[in-house]
Amino acid sequence: MKEDVLLLIDLQELDQVIIKGRNQQKKLRAEQELLNAQAAKLVKLIEQLDKELDAIKQDRGEVNQGLLQEMDNVEKAESRLPEIKTQKEYLAVLKEVDIAKKQCKDLQDQLDGSEQAFVTLEEDRAEKQQQLDDLKQSNTSRASEIEAELTKIDNSLKSEDGKREGLAENVPAKIRKNYELLLVRRKGSALVEARKGTCLGCNMHLPPQFFNSMLKKQGIDSCPHCNRLLFIRPMEG
Ligand SMILES: [Zn+2]
Repeated sequence: MKEDVLLLIDLQELDQVIIKGRNQQKKLRAEQELLNAQAAKLVKLIEQLDKELDAIKQDRGEVNQGLLQEMDNVEKAESRLPEIKTQKEYLAVLKEVDIAKKQCKDLQDQLDGSEQAFVTLEEDRAEKQQQLDDLKQSNTSRASEIEAELTKIDNSLKSEDGKREGLAENVPAKIRKNYELLLVRRKGSALVEARKGTCLGCNMHLPPQFFNSMLKKQGIDSCPHCNRLLFIRPMEG
Protein backbone atom coordinates (compact mmCIF):
# COMPACT_ATOMS: atom_id res chain seq x y z
CA MET A 1 0.00 0.00 0.00
CA LYS A 2 1.12 3.49 -0.72
CA GLU A 3 2.35 5.60 2.15
CA ASP A 4 -0.42 8.17 1.71
CA VAL A 5 -3.02 5.47 2.07
CA LEU A 6 -1.48 4.03 5.23
CA LEU A 7 -1.22 7.50 6.69
CA LEU A 8 -4.88 8.21 5.99
CA ILE A 9 -5.93 4.88 7.48
CA ASP A 10 -4.02 5.73 10.66
CA LEU A 11 -5.57 9.18 10.71
CA GLN A 12 -9.09 7.84 10.28
CA GLU A 13 -8.55 5.28 13.06
CA LEU A 14 -7.21 7.96 15.37
CA ASP A 15 -10.11 10.24 14.53
CA GLN A 16 -12.56 7.50 15.52
CA VAL A 17 -10.84 7.30 18.89
CA ILE A 18 -10.88 11.07 19.29
CA ILE A 19 -14.55 11.31 18.35
CA LYS A 20 -15.41 8.54 20.78
CA GLY A 21 -13.54 10.42 23.52
CA ARG A 22 -15.33 13.66 22.75
CA ASN A 23 -18.72 11.95 22.74
CA GLN A 24 -17.93 10.35 26.07
CA GLN A 25 -16.92 13.78 27.38
CA LYS A 26 -20.23 15.26 26.27
CA LYS A 27 -22.19 12.43 27.86
CA LEU A 28 -20.39 12.81 31.17
CA ARG A 29 -20.85 16.58 31.21
CA ALA A 30 -24.56 16.14 30.53
CA GLU A 31 -24.75 13.68 33.41
CA GLN A 32 -22.94 16.17 35.64
CA GLU A 33 -25.51 18.83 34.76
CA LEU A 34 -28.35 16.42 35.41
CA LEU A 35 -27.00 15.57 38.86
CA ASN A 36 -26.74 19.26 39.71
CA ALA A 37 -30.21 19.98 38.36
CA GLN A 38 -31.77 17.18 40.44
CA ALA A 39 -30.34 18.60 43.65
CA ALA A 40 -31.27 22.17 42.68
CA LYS A 41 -34.87 21.09 42.07
CA LEU A 42 -35.17 19.58 45.55
CA VAL A 43 -33.56 22.61 47.17
CA LYS A 44 -36.15 24.80 45.47
CA LEU A 45 -39.02 22.57 46.62
CA ILE A 46 -37.76 22.69 50.20
CA GLU A 47 -37.50 26.48 50.07
CA GLN A 48 -41.09 26.63 48.83
CA LEU A 49 -42.27 24.37 51.66
CA ASP A 50 -40.42 26.52 54.21
CA LYS A 51 -42.25 29.57 52.92
CA GLU A 52 -45.60 27.81 53.24
CA LEU A 53 -44.75 26.62 56.75
CA ASP A 54 -43.78 30.16 57.77
CA ALA A 55 -47.03 31.52 56.38
CA ILE A 56 -49.05 28.98 58.38
CA LYS A 57 -47.05 29.77 61.52
CA GLN A 58 -47.76 33.45 61.17
CA ASP A 59 -51.44 32.82 60.45
CA ARG A 60 -51.70 30.56 63.50
CA GLY A 61 -50.21 33.28 65.65
CA GLU A 62 -52.90 35.70 64.53
CA VAL A 63 -55.74 33.20 65.00
CA ASN A 64 -54.40 32.32 68.43
CA GLN A 65 -54.39 36.00 69.36
CA GLY A 66 -58.02 36.23 68.26
CA LEU A 67 -58.93 33.16 70.30
CA LEU A 68 -57.37 34.57 73.48
CA GLN A 69 -59.31 37.77 72.91
CA GLU A 70 -62.61 35.88 72.54
CA MET A 71 -61.92 33.77 75.62
CA ASP A 72 -61.35 36.97 77.52
CA ASN A 73 -64.66 38.30 76.21
CA VAL A 74 -66.46 35.19 77.44
CA GLU A 75 -64.91 35.51 80.86
CA LYS A 76 -65.71 39.20 81.17
CA ALA A 77 -69.31 38.74 80.06
CA GLU A 78 -69.84 35.79 82.41
CA SER A 79 -68.40 37.75 85.33
CA ARG A 80 -71.04 40.43 84.75
CA LEU A 81 -73.94 37.97 85.04
CA PRO A 82 -74.28 37.91 88.91
CA GLU A 83 -74.69 41.69 89.07
CA ILE A 84 -77.40 41.91 86.43
CA LYS A 85 -80.81 43.11 87.67
CA THR A 86 -83.21 42.67 84.78
CA GLN A 87 -84.21 39.57 82.92
CA LYS A 88 -83.86 41.37 79.60
CA GLU A 89 -80.31 42.44 80.30
CA TYR A 90 -79.48 38.96 81.61
CA LEU A 91 -80.66 37.34 78.37
CA ALA A 92 -78.70 39.87 76.32
CA VAL A 93 -75.45 39.07 78.15
CA LEU A 94 -76.11 35.34 77.85
CA LYS A 95 -76.50 35.82 74.14
CA GLU A 96 -73.26 37.76 74.08
CA VAL A 97 -71.54 34.86 75.89
CA ASP A 98 -72.98 32.36 73.41
CA ILE A 99 -71.75 34.34 70.45
CA ALA A 100 -68.28 34.69 71.95
CA LYS A 101 -68.17 30.96 72.74
CA LYS A 102 -69.23 30.11 69.22
CA GLN A 103 -66.48 32.40 67.95
CA CYS A 104 -63.99 30.61 70.21
CA LYS A 105 -65.04 27.25 68.80
CA ASP A 106 -64.65 28.48 65.20
CA LEU A 107 -61.19 29.82 65.93
CA GLN A 108 -60.21 26.59 67.68
CA ASP A 109 -61.42 24.62 64.63
CA GLN A 110 -59.33 26.87 62.42
CA LEU A 111 -56.28 26.21 64.57
CA ASP A 112 -56.88 22.46 64.47
CA GLY A 113 -57.21 22.56 60.69
CA SER A 114 -54.04 24.55 60.20
CA GLU A 115 -52.23 22.30 62.66
CA GLN A 116 -53.08 19.38 60.36
CA ALA A 117 -51.88 21.27 57.29
CA PHE A 118 -48.70 22.21 59.14
CA VAL A 119 -47.94 18.61 60.10
CA THR A 120 -48.57 17.40 56.55
CA LEU A 121 -46.25 20.05 55.10
CA GLU A 122 -43.61 19.28 57.70
CA GLU A 123 -43.73 15.60 56.77
CA ASP A 124 -43.43 16.54 53.13
CA ARG A 125 -40.45 18.75 53.90
CA ALA A 126 -38.72 16.02 55.91
CA GLU A 127 -39.25 13.62 53.01
CA LYS A 128 -37.76 16.07 50.50
CA GLN A 129 -34.84 16.77 52.83
CA GLN A 130 -34.18 13.05 53.10
CA GLN A 131 -34.29 12.73 49.32
CA LEU A 132 -31.85 15.61 49.01
CA ASP A 133 -29.48 14.08 51.56
CA ASP A 134 -29.62 10.70 49.80
CA LEU A 135 -29.14 12.34 46.44
CA LYS A 136 -26.19 14.37 47.67
CA GLN A 137 -24.60 11.27 49.09
CA SER A 138 -24.99 9.18 45.95
CA ASN A 139 -24.20 12.14 43.70
CA THR A 140 -21.00 12.91 45.54
CA SER A 141 -19.48 9.56 44.69
CA ARG A 142 -20.80 9.64 41.12
CA ALA A 143 -19.65 13.25 40.72
CA SER A 144 -16.10 12.37 41.70
CA GLU A 145 -16.22 9.34 39.39
CA ILE A 146 -17.26 11.62 36.54
CA GLU A 147 -14.56 14.11 37.47
CA ALA A 148 -11.91 11.38 37.34
CA GLU A 149 -13.20 10.02 34.03
CA LEU A 150 -13.23 13.49 32.51
CA THR A 151 -9.64 14.10 33.58
CA LYS A 152 -8.61 10.77 32.07
CA ILE A 153 -10.36 11.52 28.78
CA ASP A 154 -8.95 15.02 28.74
CA ASN A 155 -5.41 13.70 29.04
CA SER A 156 -5.97 11.07 26.35
CA LEU A 157 -7.46 13.66 24.02
CA LYS A 158 -4.51 15.96 24.55
CA SER A 159 -2.02 13.30 23.50
CA GLU A 160 -4.28 12.09 20.68
CA ASP A 161 -4.71 15.61 19.35
CA GLY A 162 -0.94 15.98 19.31
CA LYS A 163 -0.54 12.68 17.52
CA ARG A 164 -3.23 13.67 15.05
CA GLU A 165 -1.47 16.90 14.23
CA GLY A 166 1.68 14.92 13.42
CA LEU A 167 -0.20 12.55 11.12
CA ALA A 168 -2.37 15.12 9.41
CA GLU A 169 0.48 17.42 8.44
CA ASN A 170 1.97 14.62 6.34
CA VAL A 171 -1.21 14.05 4.36
CA PRO A 172 -1.11 15.89 1.00
CA ALA A 173 -2.97 19.18 1.38
CA LYS A 174 -5.68 18.49 -1.18
CA ILE A 175 -6.59 15.10 0.23
CA ARG A 176 -6.43 16.45 3.74
CA LYS A 177 -8.85 19.26 2.97
CA ASN A 178 -11.24 16.79 1.43
CA TYR A 179 -10.81 14.41 4.34
CA GLU A 180 -11.49 17.07 6.99
CA LEU A 181 -14.60 18.21 5.13
CA LEU A 182 -15.93 14.67 4.87
CA LEU A 183 -15.13 14.02 8.51
CA VAL A 184 -17.61 16.72 9.47
CA ARG A 185 -20.22 15.92 6.82
CA ARG A 186 -20.11 12.16 7.29
CA LYS A 187 -20.03 12.30 11.07
CA GLY A 188 -16.53 10.94 11.58
CA SER A 189 -16.33 8.49 8.70
CA ALA A 190 -14.36 10.15 5.90
CA LEU A 191 -12.22 7.24 4.76
CA VAL A 192 -13.77 3.82 4.21
CA GLU A 193 -12.79 0.58 2.61
CA ALA A 194 -13.98 -0.54 -0.78
CA ARG A 195 -14.49 -4.25 -0.47
CA LYS A 196 -15.76 -6.73 -3.03
CA GLY A 197 -16.90 -3.92 -5.29
CA THR A 198 -18.87 -2.15 -2.54
CA CYS A 199 -18.26 1.11 -0.66
CA LEU A 200 -18.43 0.19 3.04
CA GLY A 201 -19.48 3.76 3.86
CA CYS A 202 -22.73 3.87 1.91
CA ASN A 203 -22.95 0.14 0.99
CA MET A 204 -23.54 0.94 -2.66
CA HIS A 205 -21.99 -1.09 -5.47
CA LEU A 206 -19.15 0.62 -7.21
CA PRO A 207 -19.01 0.54 -11.00
CA PRO A 208 -16.86 -2.55 -11.93
CA GLN A 209 -14.54 -0.51 -14.08
CA PHE A 210 -14.03 2.00 -11.28
CA PHE A 211 -13.32 -0.76 -8.77
CA ASN A 212 -10.90 -2.53 -11.10
CA SER A 213 -8.91 0.62 -11.66
CA MET A 214 -8.82 1.11 -7.89
CA LEU A 215 -7.40 -2.38 -7.49
CA LYS A 216 -4.69 -1.54 -9.97
CA LYS A 217 -3.84 1.86 -8.52
CA GLN A 218 -4.01 0.92 -4.81
CA GLY A 219 -4.47 4.61 -4.06
CA ILE A 220 -7.20 6.88 -2.77
CA ASP A 221 -10.41 7.49 -4.70
CA SER A 222 -13.75 9.09 -3.96
CA CYS A 223 -16.94 7.02 -3.80
CA PRO A 224 -19.16 8.15 -6.70
CA HIS A 225 -22.22 7.74 -4.44
CA CYS A 226 -21.30 9.22 -1.06
CA ASN A 227 -18.02 11.00 -1.86
CA ARG A 228 -16.17 9.32 1.00
CA LEU A 229 -12.52 8.59 0.36
CA LEU A 230 -12.03 4.95 -0.59
CA PHE A 231 -9.12 2.58 -0.25
CA ILE A 232 -8.62 -1.12 -0.84
CA ARG A 233 -6.86 -3.50 1.51
CA PRO A 234 -4.63 -5.54 -0.79
CA MET A 235 -5.30 -8.86 0.94
CA GLU A 236 -9.04 -8.52 0.80
CA GLY A 237 -9.36 -6.61 -2.43
ZN1 LIG B 1 -19.93 5.41 -0.72
